[in-house]
Amino acid sequence: MTPLPLPSPPAGERMKVRGAIIFALLLILAAPLAAASQAPYQGPLIDAHSHLPNPQVLEAYVAAMKRHNVGKVVLLGVGGVQKQDVEWIAAAAKRHPDRVIQGAPVPDPLGQGQASKLDALLGSGQYRAAGEVHVRQESRKIDRRADDPAFGQVLEVAAKHGAPVVIHCELTAAASSLEPALQKHPKAVIVLAHGGSAEPAMLEGLLGRNPNLLVDLSGMHYQRTPRLASEKGPLDPAWKALIEKFPDRFLMGIDVWAPRLFEPATLDRLLAWTRRILGELPPEVAQKVAYRNAARLFRVE
Ligand SMILES: [Zn+2]
Repeated sequence: MTPLPLPSPPAGERMKVRGAIIFALLLILAAPLAAASQAPYQGPLIDAHSHLPNPQVLEAYVAAMKRHNVGKVVLLGVGGVQKQDVEWIAAAAKRHPDRVIQGAPVPDPLGQGQASKLDALLGSGQYRAAGEVHVRQESRKIDRRADDPAFGQVLEVAAKHGAPVVIHCELTAAASSLEPALQKHPKAVIVLAHGGSAEPAMLEGLLGRNPNLLVDLSGMHYQRTPRLASEKGPLDPAWKALIEKFPDRFLMGIDVWAPRLFEPATLDRLLAWTRRILGELPPEVAQKVAYRNAARLFRVE
């Protein structure tokens, strides 16, 4: 039996089919490129914001730094809750001088003599930052004014030593004392931790008007709110746009602080998430946020 010849499609139809095939091939060819641009960031990384809840967790963190190629960590005080912050941070730096950047704790930012205590610490030459200073933290019922004259002295002392001041200041309230502080102390550099718990639109104005403000993205991971992204989901587009608009003004950090966060599996998840999120930024921006901005700010050679 002779099969009937299939009718040949008209020329227009053939063009359509050919076009569809070319389009499909292009998609197949482009897929690896698209995937590559979304690969986790592989470059150098500084954790610009973490804490020790006790001296014992340090080795677990250093082991995770080695697994995830984190070159340095800035260890900060937790704002008066732990009396031994200075000793623990100093001991960590002594044990891992190539990895630990010491932050000088500021336990009582409006307290009498705080500025001169900070002056003495920074004068030792051991520190590259001051903080974390808790200016406004709703969960701890802390509500200080960043433009309080006593804190102004702290900012001036830090500026004299060229040390940025990392502050926790939730900007969710309509009125904020942060901007007056930035403008009264233009030589002081303030690093606003955790994105200030603010909307990107609010930060956009602050960053635009105040060149002495930087923002750390620590503690904005999938376990907390506000967050940059869920554990598997994409980087929030409004944050992505803001970071790309001010690529020199953001720092990455992990903000480990509680003993449970130092479980190796938890650290692996947090650090994998961090590199995944950085991988969603253009490579040049990712490297600034992950490393170059912090290296400049904390004078890493
Ligand atoms: Zn912190």
